[in-house]
Amino acid sequence: MPDAPLAVIDIDDVLADTTPLMLDHLNRKLGTAYTMDDMHVFGMSQALSIPREEVVLLINSNEFQMEIAPMPGAAAGLARLREQGCEVWLVTGRPEIVRPSTEAWLARGGFAYDHLVMGLAGSEKVEALPRAPLLACDDRADAVTAYAAVAQVAYLYARPWNRDGAGPENMRRVEGWGEIIVPGR
Ligand SMILES: [Mg+2]
Repeated sequence: MPDAPLAVIDIDDVLADTTPLMLDHLNRKLGTAYTMDDMHVFGMSQALSIPREEVVLLINSNEFQMEIAPMPGAAAGLARLREQGCEVWLVTGRPEIVRPSTEAWLARGGFAYDHLVMGLAGSEKVEALPRAPLLACDDRADAVTAYAAVAQVAYLYARPWNRDGAGPENMRRVEGWGEIIVPGR
């Protein structure tokens, strides 16, 4: 039997509405008033005057990870990919230290997947794949550009930090899970 077509999906800001909650926490702790519109480049400490250590404290917190809301339609979207025959790999920059909360959060939200790879960000993600994916989705432009070089279609999940710039020909910018489809189905 041939391998199933591979679908590779990011977690933060694709399955999980992470950045708004992170901003809430940081604003409360630091007395700032940042909004999503301030996130014009990827990465909280790059976009805002927030120390990297404050961001890392949240990323490494199992409690914080459990508080994040799912992105609308994301669980149904993953289920649809699997119904259409895809093997679903979640590939995230989250560190292994939050694997317990990440797995519990995915189970609680009814997210169906086959494999969870942690600790890889941006273009490194492509190196973890067992074969060329049929489709991939991420909110980071460098990851999507790397996926586009090997996948049939690479979806860029629209977020304030990826508004600019054209991408490769097989990159599609999507506004929500309804637009993430298996090509040719
Ligand atoms: Mg992400």
